[in-house]
Amino acid sequence: MLIKTGISVIMKTNQNSPKIIFESSFIEEAVFLAAKYNTNKINDSIIQKFHEDRENIYQNTTTEERELAFETLYKEYLYKLKISEIFESIISKFVLLHQPNVILYVKKVWSKGQEDTELFVDGDLRTVCIALMVNRILQPFCIQAILRHDLMRICDMLDPKFQYSPQIRLDGKSELENNLIKDRFRILWDMYIDIRLRKKGYSTLKSVEDYQKAFQRSFFFLKNSEREYIYSKLEGCDDLMQIDMINWAQDARSIKTLGEGGLRCPLCDFTCYEPIKDWSDEKLRVAEAVKEEHPQWTIKQGICPQCFDLYSCKTKVKV
Ligand SMILES: [Zn+2]
Repeated sequence: MLIKTGISVIMKTNQNSPKIIFESSFIEEAVFLAAKYNTNKINDSIIQKFHEDRENIYQNTTTEERELAFETLYKEYLYKLKISEIFESIISKFVLLHQPNVILYVKKVWSKGQEDTELFVDGDLRTVCIALMVNRILQPFCIQAILRHDLMRICDMLDPKFQYSPQIRLDGKSELENNLIKDRFRILWDMYIDIRLRKKGYSTLKSVEDYQKAFQRSFFFLKNSEREYIYSKLEGCDDLMQIDMINWAQDARSIKTLGEGGLRCPLCDFTCYEPIKDWSDEKLRVAEAVKEEHPQWTIKQGICPQCFDLYSCKTKVKV
């Protein structure tokens, strides 16, 4: 048994059952909420007994003894009020979490924005840290949808076939571009997770329509046929790897110049979605000004509007 201050440990006797550790402050609040609202439909006599046991501790313990006595009581009622069962039934469906080197740690957070599930790797040990608002135990749909989505993501990270690496190389030319790639990758991964959950018959927090809108918005630069190809892969495959989705998230055109069919201005190297196409009349004078400074450059190589404006000003100065 592992004992740490402020942490209650629930170790399962069966080697292959997931090991779940609940933070003591999570347990205490969860037991109070479950006793107050009784969403798990527990027999009233058990809830009555909880209040009596609590009163007993107040009456019959010294201040020094009280903290440990309460902690023991709350842990006992974590089972009796079927709170641990909520987690066990969800986690039990994810076989990759049933390994002797995997521990799940549930801790309390105060807001929706702080909720997250992370994987920590220490040698052979894999710790899945689930940060959750305690009142989620009163929201059966939400807690199931949140945990299933997050645990599916963690299982991808644990699955050798997915070949997850936190340090995967991104081809963006700046931090900003790499962040855009990460955002797009995250949308693809979230979609891939929820597609598989829905196939198993589970409801998900985000609807198919929400994802399609986000997908359309983030991958606006692709042709319809390219978007359809990616979507069909997400929907049809059960063995995608991280690198597949990273490749789709990297806009391949962002590493090519405008003249090569890409999005990069050959002069300033910034990404440009609307290059100058009209070279009629006096605009040719701007092209001449560009060539004066960049003799290798031709109209075919393209130019972004910012560079065009810059050289346009230079010609006007000369005139
Ligand atoms: Zn430019």
